[in-house]
Amino acid sequence: MIAQHATASMDAEVLVVGSGAGGATTATVLAEAGFDVLVVEEGAWVEQGAVVPFSLDQMDQQYRAGGVTVALGMPSIAYTEGRCAGGGTEVNSGLYWRPPGELLERWHRDFRIADFDPDELLAIADEVETVINVRTVPGNHSEPSDVLRRGAAALGWRHGEIPRWMTYPHADQPDKGERQSMTRTYLPRAVAAGARLVVGCRVDRLEMSRGTASAAHTTLADGTSGTIRFRHVFVCGGAIQSPALLQRSGVHGHIGRTLAVHPTVKLAARFADALNVPDDVPVHQVKEFAPHLSFGGSASNPGLVALSLLDQWSTFRRAITDWQRMSVYYAAITSEGTGRVRSFPGMADPVVTYRLTHRDRELLRSGLARLTLLMLEAGAEEVFPSFQGAPAVKTRRDVATMQRAFGVNRATVMTVHLCSTVPMGEVEGRCGADSFGKVVGCHNVYVNDASLLPTAPGVNPQASVMAFAIRNARRFAAGGSRG
Ligand SMILES: Cc1cc2nc3c(=O)[nH]c(=O)nc-3n(C[C@H](O)[C@H](O)[C@H](O)COP(=O)(O)OP(=O)(O)OC[C@H]3O[C@@H](n4cnc5c(N)ncnc54)[C@H](O)[C@@H]3O)c2cc1C
Repeated sequence: MIAQHATASMDAEVLVVGSGAGGATTATVLAEAGFDVLVVEEGAWVEQGAVVPFSLDQMDQQYRAGGVTVALGMPSIAYTEGRCAGGGTEVNSGLYWRPPGELLERWHRDFRIADFDPDELLAIADEVETVINVRTVPGNHSEPSDVLRRGAAALGWRHGEIPRWMTYPHADQPDKGERQSMTRTYLPRAVAAGARLVVGCRVDRLEMSRGTASAAHTTLADGTSGTIRFRHVFVCGGAIQSPALLQRSGVHGHIGRTLAVHPTVKLAARFADALNVPDDVPVHQVKEFAPHLSFGGSASNPGLVALSLLDQWSTFRRAITDWQRMSVYYAAITSEGTGRVRSFPGMADPVVTYRLTHRDRELLRSGLARLTLLMLEAGAEEVFPSFQGAPAVKTRRDVATMQRAFGVNRATVMTVHLCSTVPMGEVEGRCGADSFGKVVGCHNVYVNDASLLPTAPGVNPQASVMAFAIRNARRFAAGGSRG
């Protein structure tokens, strides 16, 4: 392990809070530019391979609150955040989507991001793809992935394999890829360039005076307190924790008011033959209705199959004995609703709320119906949608009944894509940070993670997070940061 344990008193020229997609890339750029960088991470260093991917063990060791966090609302939305060295990049599905050109143009225009060059971001994406080894599966796709391909092909819907940041050490085992997460790529590079990485160290609060931060007050893994002094701080705790830390530090402005997510609804589908892959996810996605609506496959170990049947357990429980013939799929929407992150004195965790719009609700309803249809076209014998009162679906005719019975307030709605709580740009009252991540009203406090993305991207977000983080860190290193 390249990480150290924290001590009660530390200092650095640049403090980076959080070691995920934003923090690891920020630390690498700044350390390689010669800055004295200290990265502090609340979670532990967990060696890849030490826990089974997508298992309860992994949730326990590498997720915040064991993966059980909920945004309040009607319906409430379950969300998950990585909490470990490497953050979300250690636990996620590894599906890579460059930020779409049309989206970059829209962000540029609507949020007036200064000195914005889409070609610069795409050139950074080229670099990132080499470093994290973005590629397609070297052999046959798994059967759960092929279900998406088959169903979409039968319906004539646009679909494809999404490349992942993976290496495949054994040519004959395309299902045994190794995720090229931050602990495998950018964090070792940052440390090789002189950065220090400290795990088990949570930043509780920044000490602020007239817009300048001078110290971070921390809690270490053994419960003791510590202090870190610095000249500049990059807050990279992710879209929930970054605004929460700023609020706890007395930084206000447009912080935490515009949480954007990709809400999903789910179903489990049973096929004639065994297909379940407990420790991996499908690589195909269906994009016929993108960017508003997309379909993909979820982790499907027996516990997660049971969870997807839970909403209608009284009638669906009979299916669990067939878990090897089942896999779980989702319909994800690009929501027009927004959420809020609010910290309250004396509470360690923020309160998160989210409100879906009428259009979001209808899109989730039609999304689940279309996904069900796709499963039938792919050969599913029976489909079990995840909402209370759901009927099991065996034929096309049942799809309409299911769609009518659907109520989003009775469904399990969840998300793993969280962003936009400190949007970047130059629109007063709409942006929490300037065009390079410097927090409005602060002199030496930057945000450089998913919080900066102006809206939910409509595709898996990690590539966008990394491209912006590298762009902004380079600007800082070049001394051209505004303000
Ligand atoms: C289950 C799952 C599946 C996903 N699948 C994909 C996918 O296939 N493709 C894709 O593109 N994206 C995916 N994502 C999303 C992707 O992982 C995130 O968009 C990305 O990791 C966000 O980067 P970040 O730097 O903002 O935050 P994170 O990567 O979450 O890193 C934040 C880190 O900061 C630490 N931290 C927070 N607060 C503090 C504090 N106060 N003190 C110290 N440390 C702190 C956290 O512990 C965490 O490790 C998935 C996410 C999850 C959870």
